[in-house]
Amino acid sequence: MSLTIRLGVLIAVTASGPAFSADHADQHRNPDHTCTIIRPEGDRGAVVPDTWPGGIVPYEFESDVSNTNRNRVRNSMDMLEAVSGVTFIPRTNESARLNIGGFGGNWSSVGMTGGQQNLSIYNWSSPLIICHELIHALGRYHQQSRTDRDDYIQVNWENIDDDYEYNYYISNSDEFGPYDFESVMHYSQWGFSTGGPTMTCLPGYEQWQNVMGQREYLSDGDIATLQYMYVDGVSDASVLFVQASPDELEAGADTHVLAVLKNLGDQAAFDADASIYLSADATLGSDDVLLHQESYAYLLPGELVYLSVDVTIPAGTADGTWYVGVKLDGAGDSDGSNNAYVTTIDIGALEDCPADISGNGSVDVDDVLAVVAAFGDCGSCSEDIDGDGTVGVDDLLVVIAAFGPC
Ligand SMILES: [Zn+2]
Repeated sequence: MSLTIRLGVLIAVTASGPAFSADHADQHRNPDHTCTIIRPEGDRGAVVPDTWPGGIVPYEFESDVSNTNRNRVRNSMDMLEAVSGVTFIPRTNESARLNIGGFGGNWSSVGMTGGQQNLSIYNWSSPLIICHELIHALGRYHQQSRTDRDDYIQVNWENIDDDYEYNYYISNSDEFGPYDFESVMHYSQWGFSTGGPTMTCLPGYEQWQNVMGQREYLSDGDIATLQYMYVDGVSDASVLFVQASPDELEAGADTHVLAVLKNLGDQAAFDADASIYLSADATLGSDDVLLHQESYAYLLPGELVYLSVDVTIPAGTADGTWYVGVKLDGAGDSDGSNNAYVTTIDIGALEDCPADISGNGSVDVDDVLAVVAAFGDCGSCSEDIDGDGTVGVDDLLVVIAAFGPC
């Protein structure tokens, strides 16, 4: 059997770094005024940043921010609202809010911290630098901090200003999807450089060397990530799309969709709905076709659910590039963080019985033993049924839940 992991593995790792300290000197060393993030001192846990409940982000400005600059920030907010379920609202009396000003440099906290959180802009005339800082506040780290970045770039530590090396540490990141050199959250090769490039694209990816750090547009990956984090303004929702190959989808025919849903948080997600869509553009929209919906009374903290279903591709679906997406939303999450995720989607392989690792037609003790024998990190292996890169108790639970003939 093959369980192809094409998108969406969520990983949290432990990392730490010095707390942010404002340093105006970086503005001279860095022509693009590279952004830095605030890392709380002592932040050593596996932290998935808090998202904003309902996608609602209250904001206010420091009194000395000009009307021109306020309008520029509002324009960047509009750009983000146009592609996701986020809504920025002027603060009335909300406790958690952004306080936007020119505090020296471009920087932000990652995610909602609760209470007032300052967000600093230096390059007021760059709409995408402003978007970059707002996206930090929405909960994203830098792209080059991803756990898989060493497969794509080489970090040239000797060229990085010592005081800013922590911006290149691998983060507690919840990034997903293919590594995105184009992301507006990626540094350029000159960020915090003392001379030579701070990052070199590995062989096969050289074409991205001068693209890294672009601040001209939101990449497809940026938009997909925002949609994943803030779907339709619904807290505790996520959406994940994978591209189907042409032979996987045929108009009028059935195809198999397998999705792994997981509640990563410490709160139960109630009334969770998983909706499978067919989309032409990998973003949720009114022209997407709902293929199937499954409802769950609740997803317990840590619970993993396995949605495996045949869906019918509507007759008349044109040939071309199509994406299959699974949107998961739930309610009842009191802390407002996005806890319920779609972690994996597999299309078409008609993998009715992925827990049948031995391939003998039934899920039995052989499969339990196979999982136990493979315990630990495995990259991509058939024993890693939930596709999180590690064979563990979750995979064992899937086998046990599927016990019996396929
Ligand atoms: Zn940044």
